[in-house]
Amino acid sequence: MKTSFLLGSIRAIAIRVHFTLLIIVALFSWAFATQSVALLSFTIGFGNLSAHLWLRAVLGTVLAVLFFACVLVHELAHSLMAQRQGYGVRSITLFVFGGISQMEDIPREPRLELQVAGIGPLTSVALGALLYLGYTLLQTANGPLMHEALATGLGTLAFYNFVLGLFNLVPAFPTDGGRLLRAMLATFMDYDRATHAAAAVGKGLAIAMAVFGIFYNFWLILIAVFIYMGASEEERAVRVTLALEGLKARDIMTAQVKTVPPDMSISALAGRMLQDKHTGYPVEREGKVLGVVTFSDVRAVSPEQRDTTRVSDVMSTSLISVSPRSSAVDAFRRLQRANVGRVLVMEDGRLAGIITRSDLLQVIQMRGAGVQ
Ligand SMILES: [Zn+2]
Repeated sequence: MKTSFLLGSIRAIAIRVHFTLLIIVALFSWAFATQSVALLSFTIGFGNLSAHLWLRAVLGTVLAVLFFACVLVHELAHSLMAQRQGYGVRSITLFVFGGISQMEDIPREPRLELQVAGIGPLTSVALGALLYLGYTLLQTANGPLMHEALATGLGTLAFYNFVLGLFNLVPAFPTDGGRLLRAMLATFMDYDRATHAAAAVGKGLAIAMAVFGIFYNFWLILIAVFIYMGASEEERAVRVTLALEGLKARDIMTAQVKTVPPDMSISALAGRMLQDKHTGYPVEREGKVLGVVTFSDVRAVSPEQRDTTRVSDVMSTSLISVSPRSSAVDAFRRLQRANVGRVLVMEDGRLAGIITRSDLLQVIQMRGAGVQ
């Protein structure tokens, strides 16, 4: 299922919006339009504005969209800093809890990670300070309606930018604070152990937050789950990257690939799978790869129809492939992203090999255990 759509791109970084963001924008718009909360010296929301509801709804929507523009600025700060350090950034996805930058590689050098992780909260706090300045300048007198609306809008945005900057400093993966903590630990211990320690702090905070949430605020439980999963995911990703480090696709691929022709019947294919104990084959004709057929494609055909159905009728034609010179980590990421069991290794349009998920997991296990 496609869960996000492309908004545009900035410096070759695709900006994507996850559908959950639309729900949260709608909720924020409504809250901004109908509620007014006095917090510290801020007034959050247009609820007290003496204007018709539809005008407040328009203002609330504009404010909600601007708020997520500020989240985007925060993520862009990370991404542009990473680009400056020479790291590829594929995309930024905005979703219900904020934004995520998909970087091709995480800076492993503590000093670089400090810069990439630190620039986000710093940008949010600086943006908050700027908006706050505008807010205090406008706040002075009870001016006309639009004046008051502008002041409230600036104040709300300033407040949320401070929250965004400060929340991200909490040392709990996947927040920036988690990365900052890891980078600091990594200056005096190895990267794997630093990640493990920072993830443990994140998980501990998540559990404390969830317990607190049971008594006070349901939202905290949701955020706690998100943080716990993020910490585990980060740990796993680092373990995989370290285990596959230095390996190319050609080092781990199976070169003698068994293929099947497109006009083979499904019953013959099923027999072949049983014999070879393989669950998937590239489909090839005259040296050209046409697709991939797997066990789940076989299962989808009812037994009575397996004699008359051909491989070409059920195979998937979107090919997930890497070059023999691609890194093993890249092959792993492609498998994860496409959620498939095997990636083809192609060179000059020809099939050079295949890497299955179990091949990769085996390599990760063996290298993780110190086997070269
Ligand atoms: Zn951040």
